[in-house]
Amino acid sequence: MLENRPARKKPYSTLTFFSYLLGMPQIILCHIGSLLVLQTGLSWGSVGWIVFLYLIRMLATTGIYHRLLTHKSYQAPAIVLWLGCIVGASAGQMGPSWWKAHHVNHHQYVDQAQDPHSPYTPAKGMKGFLWSQIGWLLSPRFFPDRLPADVERDVVLRVIDRLHFLPLFALGGLSYYIGGLEYLGAFFLSTTLLFHGVQTVNSLSHLFGKRPFVTDDHSRNNGFVALITLGEGWHNLHHAFQASSRQGITLRQGKVVYLPDPTFWFIQLLQGLGLASRLRVPTERELLASAAAPIPPTSTLEVPSTR
Ligand SMILES: [Zn+2]
Ligand SMILES: [Zn+2]
Repeated sequence: MLENRPARKKPYSTLTFFSYLLGMPQIILCHIGSLLVLQTGLSWGSVGWIVFLYLIRMLATTGIYHRLLTHKSYQAPAIVLWLGCIVGASAGQMGPSWWKAHHVNHHQYVDQAQDPHSPYTPAKGMKGFLWSQIGWLLSPRFFPDRLPADVERDVVLRVIDRLHFLPLFALGGLSYYIGGLEYLGAFFLSTTLLFHGVQTVNSLSHLFGKRPFVTDDHSRNNGFVALITLGEGWHNLHHAFQASSRQGITLRQGKVVYLPDPTFWFIQLLQGLGLASRLRVPTERELLASAAAPIPPTSTLEVPSTR
């Protein structure tokens, strides 16, 4: 229990604290910077830039930060992890230690007081939604209370974590170099859309959607969130099987049904290129054993005898 733990020493240095502190103005800057497009307008080229940056950085957030770095749902060479984390940082998603620290806390204390971004605590309703969507990132909760030891042991990941702002600024500079203020505005807009897209996993996927699997939290499978986050919206499956590299899975009438999961397709692509291996996916027997609703007797799949 938390309250029985001895008092921890300060989890990171003052320099690291100031590095993390930059994250808050980054979020605000990207929101305000998006307004540039009202002044410059958007060409087809800059719209394409918005979409391209959104997709590539969303995949880095979901496929690398979440499913590889945090949950180790597959294995990949260090270079894939490092490059993926640089792209993740360029999304304004902070660095690998910061990201994993918060996400581990989310899973450990899901929808309880220590969960950094639950829409049920410290507030509910619209206030709870706003807290989980953005409020927690503009509060003292922004600063993790501990950093993951495995990430901290990797000097490359530690450097990316502390210099998380450099890839973001570099991508902003590249955007300006390519197309001036219009592309810089497109970069800000893409980053802001990405920011809110990622946050909907914390907010909407704990509020709205189906719960085909038994979990002791409010996680839900939400198709809209899955669409904008390339598969992360199948969040009830994720909380039921956190180590699964495939999240697009549900149950219908006692049968396992696979759902669109572009992040899983991306991981399969990496596998095809020899850059990912040992993809972890639950068996149909394990999935059925976690069904929230009783399995109909007409099911053609064998129900585990332990149920
Ligand atoms: Zn969750
Ligand atoms: Zn997770």
